[in-house]
Amino acid sequence: MLITVLNLSGSSSIAQVNSNSISDSIPLEQLSGYKQILYYSSGHKDRALSIADFMENAGIYFQNEIGFTPKTTLFVLAPEHWATYAAKSLKEVYGFPHNLDNENLIIAAENNDFWKSFLPPVDQLSAEIAIQVKLAYGQSDGSYSMQPFFDLLALHEMGHSYTSQAGLEMNRYWMAELFVNIMLHTYVAEKQPELLPALEAFPNMVLKAGTADYQYTSLEDFEKLYPTLGMGTKNYGWYQCKLHSAAKDIYNAGGSIVLKKLWTALKNHQESMTDSDFVGMLEREVHISVANVYLNWNNH
Ligand SMILES: [Zn+2]
Repeated sequence: MLITVLNLSGSSSIAQVNSNSISDSIPLEQLSGYKQILYYSSGHKDRALSIADFMENAGIYFQNEIGFTPKTTLFVLAPEHWATYAAKSLKEVYGFPHNLDNENLIIAAENNDFWKSFLPPVDQLSAEIAIQVKLAYGQSDGSYSMQPFFDLLALHEMGHSYTSQAGLEMNRYWMAELFVNIMLHTYVAEKQPELLPALEAFPNMVLKAGTADYQYTSLEDFEKLYPTLGMGTKNYGWYQCKLHSAAKDIYNAGGSIVLKKLWTALKNHQESMTDSDFVGMLEREVHISVANVYLNWNNH
């Protein structure tokens, strides 16, 4: 989950932070040898390296696919450093990954209550989902951690820097979030399919549990509430799970070419569009599976 509190053309509505001043202000370690800048709280070098490698390899893939690489700075933070860097509205929500200002990406280094809040007791899950959750998030000591899923979201957050820095017009908040989930799913499926269980089990689990716990489930409400995270962090997580699942369906229906076509369409269409114009364009110029996210939102 991730908020990128962006406006639709991608500029920040929550914070304008200079990356030099931000990184000077606290005692973080820096990784060298990577295309992007990465800082981490001391004691978390292995995590930082693993996330850095993942993002570096994804960056190579996307450069080949869409011909663009943004400039980003990633912060992998321990709880004691979170509030110094996190967006104002998320200082109290350790673990909520976000893209601060189209350049600075904030993610947590440690398991935390926010991640745990999404995981019910595993013995209460259906057998099918319990197997997926154990495989993806089970630890050697018998506990569970959603870290394998949330680590992947660094790439979701980096995706927002691709679209904003390249000047894509996302048109709708749901598209801004769907697009970066398509990036993440496409990269994992194409190049690191061993990570698919970690990427898919969490959304499967949340969606299988139904919508009774969530006040907001419509796309209209998502558009209305997104700028202020007015649906709350948990309900926002549900929307993200829908959009991760949609990204999976799109990749499975159309393959990796959909990402390239969608990138081109959103770069070319800078005009604002009605819902029906937008969805018609997606169907004609990209793939029916992308239009179906809007058309079939309430049907599954
Ligand atoms: Zn996002």
